[in-house]
Amino acid sequence: MGYSKPQELLRASFRCFDGCVGEFPLTQAIYRCPSCDGLLEVTHDLDILRRTSGDEWRARFDARWSASAQSGVWSKREWVAPEVPDSALVTMGEGMTPLYPARRLANELGFGDLRVKQCGTTHTGSFKDLGMTVLVSVVNHAVTCGALTPRAIACASTGDTSAALAAYGAAAGLPVVVLLPRGMVSVAQLVQPLAHGAKVLALETDFDGCMAVVAELARRGRVYLANSMNPLRIEGQKTVALEIAQQLGWKAPDWVVIPSGNLGNAAALFAGFSMAKELGLIDRLPRLCVAQAAKANPMYRAFLAGASNVLPVVAESTQASAIRIGNPVSAKRAFAALRGMDGVVEEATENELAEAAAHADRTGLYADPHTGVALACALKLRHREVIQRGDVVVVVSTANALKFTEFKLGYHESQLPEIDSRLANIPIALPPDVEVVAANL
Ligand SMILES: *Cc1c(COP(=O)(O)O)cnc(C)c1O
Ligand SMILES: [Zn+2]
Repeated sequence: MGYSKPQELLRASFRCFDGCVGEFPLTQAIYRCPSCDGLLEVTHDLDILRRTSGDEWRARFDARWSASAQSGVWSKREWVAPEVPDSALVTMGEGMTPLYPARRLANELGFGDLRVKQCGTTHTGSFKDLGMTVLVSVVNHAVTCGALTPRAIACASTGDTSAALAAYGAAAGLPVVVLLPRGMVSVAQLVQPLAHGAKVLALETDFDGCMAVVAELARRGRVYLANSMNPLRIEGQKTVALEIAQQLGWKAPDWVVIPSGNLGNAAALFAGFSMAKELGLIDRLPRLCVAQAAKANPMYRAFLAGASNVLPVVAESTQASAIRIGNPVSAKRAFAALRGMDGVVEEATENELAEAAAHADRTGLYADPHTGVALACALKLRHREVIQRGDVVVVVSTANALKFTEFKLGYHESQLPEIDSRLANIPIALPPDVEVVAANL
């Protein structure tokens, strides 16, 4: 694959996020701390990683990027899952996505420097590929060495997780089961796991209901859990932070704005930027904006109330269907991210997210509704001068809008509830007559 061999000494393991004693190998099927039942995290041996200087890491990562490594995630493998050998990697070219300088949009919205990290330009069309290559590779490795014999890898999903799991599972030849809330994912997102041969179970509930079922099945050992409660996902997703810093010449931006539902990705950004700072690749952390849809905003409510835990809500229907989550699994990790990155939480209404996406599209981007949420929240922070004009702002675009054609079409046909469609643009039907067409140019 063209990556250097994993260094023998390097090793990562699962530990309790709250610091209970005990560590567990990454090849073990374990999702909660046996002592306190809390979340786990993957920890790396920073003392060994520190034997390589910040300069050396930067040079090594830059050399791999320009040597056209196949995968942005595995080009950072020592920081991700060092013990997985080349032969076990299940990779489909994830990461190394563009950090697009959105100059026209920035000018029109009053930002000095606005960049969009285009995570949707990847195999299954969302950032979920970054975490899934790691999770499926570790499972593949564990199966090869006899540590695991999963009957199936399973996830609950608002659409994109199941698409990624189904693709990577199919690439590895591992059986996949996905639990979807019936009628709540886009057509493209439903077709993806079906096409890859996953068993698709459509449950008469919402995402939170599906999550509760799959978590219990995992607890009983019936399936291997692929949701981001499993911190292997976060190890892959944290490379987004490393890529952003790398693409800015190993500098942190002033702000990163990320659309959030289950809050795993917000935790991943913190993990990535912290590790880069810890190991001397950047000298400070950016500020974080967790961007939520107003229809599914438990973290926003907690932030407004100054609370340090989330009260679960029943998430309402939103165009940003991938973040329609009322009981976020990684809330605790996200609070730590907000503390560590001097973060804020903002929300966007249906109209705000749709207008932000449509405006971005008019400048050449093609924004999915979640990226719309992030752009709308960035704009609100800019208006309040929380984000300053001169700030370098990175908006994480989490999915490819081609997965959300119903949203785009509904917008332009002015058919979406609570949305004004100010920028609607529909085809003009004409007879094939040169004079008539000329008169309509
Ligand atoms: C999964 C997803 C999110 C939310 O990520 P979390 O880690 O659950 O907060 C945002 N946007 C898209 C397109 C997604 O698929
Ligand atoms: Zn614990």
